[in-house]
Amino acid sequence: MNPKYEPHLTEILDKAHNLGAYLIFVTRVTMCLFIALKKNLDFSHAILITCKDIMFINMGSQMEQMLLRQIYFLPRVLTREWKKKDEIERIASKMLKSLLRDVYCINSFYKRRFEGLPITDIKTLDDLKILPLTTKDELREAFPSNLSCGYTIDTCVHESTSGSTGDVLNIYHDPAAYDYYESMKFREYRGYDYSLKDKIAYTRFDPTQKEVYEYFGLFRRYYIPVHHSAQEQLNLIVKYNPDVLSVYPSSLYEIAKLVEEYHIQIHPKFIISHSELLTEHTRNYIQSVFDCSIYNEYSSFEVHNIATECTHGGMHIHLDSNVVEIIKNGNPASPGEVGEIVVTNLSNRAMPFIRYRTGDFGALEEEGCTCGRGLPLLKVIEGRKDEYITLPSGKKVSPRVFDPLDRIFHEHVSRFQIVQKERGRFIIKVVKREQYTTETATLLLQEAKKCVPEPVDVEVVEVDDIKRTGRGKFRAVISEVTS
Ligand SMILES: [Zn+2]
Repeated sequence: MNPKYEPHLTEILDKAHNLGAYLIFVTRVTMCLFIALKKNLDFSHAILITCKDIMFINMGSQMEQMLLRQIYFLPRVLTREWKKKDEIERIASKMLKSLLRDVYCINSFYKRRFEGLPITDIKTLDDLKILPLTTKDELREAFPSNLSCGYTIDTCVHESTSGSTGDVLNIYHDPAAYDYYESMKFREYRGYDYSLKDKIAYTRFDPTQKEVYEYFGLFRRYYIPVHHSAQEQLNLIVKYNPDVLSVYPSSLYEIAKLVEEYHIQIHPKFIISHSELLTEHTRNYIQSVFDCSIYNEYSSFEVHNIATECTHGGMHIHLDSNVVEIIKNGNPASPGEVGEIVVTNLSNRAMPFIRYRTGDFGALEEEGCTCGRGLPLLKVIEGRKDEYITLPSGKKVSPRVFDPLDRIFHEHVSRFQIVQKERGRFIIKVVKREQYTTETATLLLQEAKKCVPEPVDVEVVEVDDIKRTGRGKFRAVISEVTS
């Protein structure tokens, strides 16, 4: 039996709001025309004034919709994280069933992929495995057939992501899903010492979209362009004087060095690290310079909040937003076993991400967290597929094997990058600091060889600069070995 599409409460809410907005709109247009004509303006002038007013009404209408939806989502999202794990899984299963039913009806890309599969039999999160995995390339090639019926690119929130080769994926979020992500973000921050009036400085490639509550001085966000120099970013941080920093760790690491060198006083309440791996050494150094805690966040432009570190050190998966699976050799990995992270986003019906291969590697944690949240845990995030090292024997190891080099880099180098050229050959690119000597290069060679569990050749190359990726991320380890 094929699933039948049913409207959701948020849709009904939106329709009720639209009807109200339509009545106000008709009244306002009539009033505008009446007043303009009564003032003896010519007809074209009257139309111009009316159009301006209509634009204002529409802007207000969109904001009201956003606000209504977020007020609707927030209490549910905030209470849910403290429920028992079984209860959260039950809620996520219900959301999943509803999502699959709708996607089958309104999305031609997934309808084709699900044809012949018993999707109405999917009742639990474990049943997801009967569906095929989806890749970034498949979604890119499928556009616009992966945009659901009833949505257009103009009515969605647009974002894009790109890989190292510039392979851009345009992403279209249902505005209701985007408001759901915002509620998730608020839940994440509420877990720390955050108050609604606190200012947040974001290191990002693109500016953030201004939300309605920011106009009322709540949840205010300030944009720090990641492609600016460390000094320029620091100047903006000093200017905004934020209470919270949400940053790429490699970027804040360079800023922290300037803060330390020039004894600049910046004391945020806490720091969020996102988009790159946070090594233990970077974490400790940033915490000591800014004298506050730093928490890890795992999210992406495709599906937004995947997991967030709590104050007890647990990396909680936002299961009521994204179902996370760990896949090894095409099958579910055992708890604790490292595999590729595959996500299913439960809220975006405009351009759904179902069993989407992230290219990131991690493992699930079976134990609960001492904080008391029922949200499951991600044990480790090991890095991306193209950062994984293939040893001469064919064995693969995480880029984290090079973490012990952090201390040497910290003392002698301003920027570095480890590139695996062949299975048994590595190049370490370094941008020297004043403290760098020939002994540093020798030490790096010795210590790098110790990091890799099989004999390899290592060469240290001094360079003037190391570029970030197209979207400003910094790749500390890259493997060019494809097999
Ligand atoms: Zn916790």
